Amino acid sequence: IINIQHLKKSFGENEVLKDIDFSVAKGEVVSIIGSSGSGKSTLLRCINLLEKPTSGEIYYKGENVLSPGYSLTKYRTHLGMVFQSFNLFNNMNVLENCMTGQTTVLKRNRSEAKKVALANLEKVGMDRYIDAKPAQLSGGQKQRVAIARALSMNPDVMLFDEPTSALDPEMVGEVLKTMKALAHTGLTMVVVTHEMDFAREVSDRVIFMDKGVIAEQGSPEDIFGNPKEERTKKFLHRVL
Ligand code: ATP
Ligand code: MG
Repeated sequence: IINIQHLKKSFGENEVLKDIDFSVAKGEVVSIIGSSGSGKSTLLRCINLLEKPTSGEIYYKGENVLSPGYSLTKYRTHLGMVFQSFNLFNNMNVLENCMTGQTTVLKRNRSEAKKVALANLEKVGMDRYIDAKPAQLSGGQKQRVAIARALSMNPDVMLFDEPTSALDPEMVGEVLKTMKALAHTGLTMVVVTHEMDFAREVSDRVIFMDKGVIAEQGSPEDIFGNPKEERTKKFLHRVL
């Protein structure tokens, strides 16, 4: 569904992504692991064009999204993004957070938007909190609302950037459980994570990034059970 070729991204002199080829198939769950600074977030941000690639091609359903006539606004509505730091609208309650993008961007009417929001809040176990403001929620609850909000836009692909790393340890489980359930619904997911158990148990494919390149990728069994590259072994040795 997404196919990226020869992606490069530099910030000034610093080449952060060095000729990345990356693709994700419909329904696939891909985890991206790797050390801090290896370029994982930058790759995700290039996928949804929050960062403009320095060079390379990005195809979405076979169409080149960087070609002049292509609508970026439209492209972005196909991709849901969940960040480490929730990014909820603090002045809106839970329900409004999940409705606003639908009414403004997708032009859904309020009753339709409400229906979709409620269905997704139920999916993440937050339907009892529709009137709460973000400040009244725990980190794990906020993150589940952020997931419901992204899902309410009916994205084809969900991108997650370390969705649990800002959470207190006791909140991590509920968010991972939610994500695991989503993965089993057939949703296409790209997940940057340092939760190795999640990467191992839930993903179809694991990508190990090192210094701006994909150093190794394969099935969880291969990457965790039989890594081939020395740097993958070293990384796993350090984190496991
Ligand atoms: P972490 O695990 O710490 O989140 P990461 O793998 O996500 O790390 P990135 O955030 O992609 O790494 O950063 C890769 C490199 O790009 C780092 O050296 C970082 O300093 C640099 N970088 C990222 N964003 C910018 C930016 N907007 N401007 C300048 N440099 C940046
Ligand atoms: Mg990052």
